[in-house]
Amino acid sequence: MIHFIGAGPGDPDLITVKGKRLIDEADVIIYAGSLVNPDVLNGAKPTATIHNSAYMNLDEVIEVMCKAEKEGLRTVRVHTGDPAIYGAIREQMDRLEEKGIEFDVIPGVSSFLAVAAVLKKEYTLPDVSQTVIVTRMEGRTPVPEKEKLIDLARHNASMAIFLSIGFIDEMCKTLIEGGYAPDTPVAVVYKATWPDEKTVLGSLADIAGKVKAEKIDRTALTVVGGFLGGGYGLSKLYDKSFTTMFRKGAEEQ
Ligand code: SAH
Repeated sequence: MIHFIGAGPGDPDLITVKGKRLIDEADVIIYAGSLVNPDVLNGAKPTATIHNSAYMNLDEVIEVMCKAEKEGLRTVRVHTGDPAIYGAIREQMDRLEEKGIEFDVIPGVSSFLAVAAVLKKEYTLPDVSQTVIVTRMEGRTPVPEKEKLIDLARHNASMAIFLSIGFIDEMCKTLIEGGYAPDTPVAVVYKATWPDEKTVLGSLADIAGKVKAEKIDRTALTVVGGFLGGGYGLSKLYDKSFTTMFRKGAEEQ
């Protein structure tokens, strides 16, 4: 049994209890060294073999897993954030399935959720946006034609843009062209929940310059939308005149 584990955004206390336990019990650990905080491996057994997948291709990763499995060893594959978001986990799972090797997935705190926590904001504000778009810009790898940033921008939804900080100029230009007002608030968070975390706040019109002044060019997430601003409606969920399955309205009490 191979366990895929979401390590969370950086702070080693933000891994799940289950993920931590499985890492601590593992004989073989394969982790994404480019982004996973090595401190999440602090509880690993001294005898555990640790592989950094930043230096491995898919075949090599699968090879390590197969060998460990044959030897009856416990293997964990540790991804940053949650493995379902830009984790390249599917291709590994499909290979394991072909080989008849069992696996499961332990979710983690994706960086886009950690960023909301750092900013103390909510993506889904009443009267502002009820939709979160998780996307990235086209870079060295393409995105499907129907998902171009310019088209997604039309909705003015809350947006979390991964892997794209190097294209911040083009990103802001495209978002404005696509339909966000130039004064739409933007936050760029570098290494959310790490000790060297940095936050840059601005608008679509001025964030690019601010980000460059801070020399942020990697490991940052850009979030965009009115949810970063001041205005919104109050929730119905906690509205005293609105009844829910658990709570009667004020007039019914
Ligand atoms: N599976 C991960 C994403 C991997 S893709 C997750 O769920 O978060 C890598 C990209 O994620 C980075 O380029 C950056 O955009 C973002 N990212 C990962 N960790 C981050 C962090 N601690 N702070 C800000 N952005 C982060």
